[in-house]
Amino acid sequence: MNFYWFVFGCVIGSFLNVFVSRSLNKTNFISGRSHCDNCQKNLKWYELIPMISYIIQFGKCRNCLTNIPNYVFIFELTMGVAFLEFRPCNIINILLLIFIIILQIISTFDLLTFQFSSYWLLPLLIIALIVTNLSLLKLLTIFIIYFILLALNRRYSMLGNGDIDLMILILIVFGFTAIIHVTLIASLLALFFAIFKKQKIIPFLPFLYFGTLIVNSGGLIA
Ligand SMILES: [Zn+2]
Repeated sequence: MNFYWFVFGCVIGSFLNVFVSRSLNKTNFISGRSHCDNCQKNLKWYELIPMISYIIQFGKCRNCLTNIPNYVFIFELTMGVAFLEFRPCNIINILLLIFIIILQIISTFDLLTFQFSSYWLLPLLIIALIVTNLSLLKLLTIFIIYFILLALNRRYSMLGNGDIDLMILILIVFGFTAIIHVTLIASLLALFFAIFKKQKIIPFLPFLYFGTLIVNSGGLIA
């Protein structure tokens, strides 16, 4: 059963990649056929199998040999993992999975464009407030800290505002211990990425997302 959830998650991950890339190219998500962005050749069914096609083609288009971006493979894999961690068998897990799916969508936008539409924050906030275990007092404290952080960030601009929003939302959903671990893991991953890519400005959201999946990986064994 676990294997099927994983495969299903990878397929959803593949759809999410297409959704983001077509939103950015302003092409129709539903009707257009999948094609190589470089040579425009339509892809055959066997070139559309999540993860597998990427591996057997060594991450290149079969026609023009252009590299397929690594994120395509990574986000197919992470969504497979997400479906294993939050198997949609009860309403809380379904909500958490929707939270994670939106997190992956905005992480992809952040990775490709360094920004995402703030409209995505509303469904995240609604889910966070439904699934949270935190008391009203703690939630109020968190919102006060949030506004202080925003004010500080406006002055010193340490992080993107979207990063602070997401950290607060992850805190509300997964709790205090989790957000500390998520932030530490995300910072380490982001540091490695910055050194590897020799980039000074890096999108932080994808790393917060990976950190969230890693911190919740206990669900993989359960
Ligand atoms: Zn091509």
